[in-house]
Amino acid sequence: MNTGLYIHIPFCKSKCKYCDFNSYANMEKYTALYFSALLEEAEHYAKINPTVFDTVYFGGGTPTSVDIDLLCDSINTLRSVMKIHPDAEICAECNPGTIDYEGLKKLRLSGINRLSIGLQTTDDEKLKVLGRIHTLNDFNTCFENARRAGFDNISIDLMYGLPDMTIEDWSDTLDKVCSFGAEHISCYSLKIEDGTPFAKMQLNLPDDDLSADMYQLAVEKLNRFGYERYEISNFAKPGRESRHNLKYWHCDDFLGLGAGAYSCIGNHRFSNVSGLCEYIDAVNCCGTAIDWNSEESASDKMSEFMFLGLRCSQGVSYREFKSRFGCSFTEVFATPIKKYTDWGFLILEGDCLKFSDKGFFVSNTILADFV
Ligand code: SF4
Repeated sequence: MNTGLYIHIPFCKSKCKYCDFNSYANMEKYTALYFSALLEEAEHYAKINPTVFDTVYFGGGTPTSVDIDLLCDSINTLRSVMKIHPDAEICAECNPGTIDYEGLKKLRLSGINRLSIGLQTTDDEKLKVLGRIHTLNDFNTCFENARRAGFDNISIDLMYGLPDMTIEDWSDTLDKVCSFGAEHISCYSLKIEDGTPFAKMQLNLPDDDLSADMYQLAVEKLNRFGYERYEISNFAKPGRESRHNLKYWHCDDFLGLGAGAYSCIGNHRFSNVSGLCEYIDAVNCCGTAIDWNSEESASDKMSEFMFLGLRCSQGVSYREFKSRFGCSFTEVFATPIKKYTDWGFLILEGDCLKFSDKGFFVSNTILADFV
């Protein structure tokens, strides 16, 4: 089985008010040192585990906020250091207002074949409230430039449940976004994370019922425009699912490089130190920057397989579970499976256990019972 490669680029132009990701604004002076540490870390892993990677994902942060030549050079060097499959999906996250047509063309020529653009909402006022640096117009330009530069696989990130958002606002965002004809759309509900500016503000947030209505509207509207829900928050045109993200939900192996990056290889999980300078120093010293690692037990692995697999519309395959773990999920998870199938939230269909339509609305509660 091939492995996924995640590369964390923790630089951003400024920090959004809801963001608790491992990202830093005004740290450009460390970019060159950071990229050189990334390549050193890649060399280290290539030596000890010369696996083939069939997906590569540059996430952040904002990968397109750094010097694009540096990003493209790093892709070329990565190819010479690690075994990247010739048909690999190579995706970069991109934020409008951080890259122009020339930059996008360079990215495409360097081998990046999928872009994930963070739009969030088409409402300029709400973008300001979120602390985003772009406008809808910046997004229009970015999307058009990306198409002209040859990107035929584009995903757009959206958020619902924003402060003061009405169902009409969300409907308007969905209509506008669908008109672009991107191959993939992700819809995430805003979560207020501790330690962010939003956590200290009095915000008028939609209640749970309104948020559920917004989710339902997304499912219906995106479906009408040809997007199938293949994971709780992810919708794709046929064949355009994110191959990289599917690896997470299918519990396949992935290696993470960069500050705070997380890896899962077999039963072994490990994560890097999250600080920018801490990461650079650790790699310069030892070739890696591992902060913690652990071995997962068989029962942890089974829970994870159910917890992540059920997020996907196709659900968890009975045969796949049995071949991985040598037992059946109907025995190991008899209690939650009985409870939620009796209530109609989970269904056993053919070889698969999956959410029913109404099950998706209470997925968090149900998934918690498999942990
Ligand atoms: S652009 Fe993304 S990673 Fe950067 S601060 Fe905003 S939400 Fe966080």
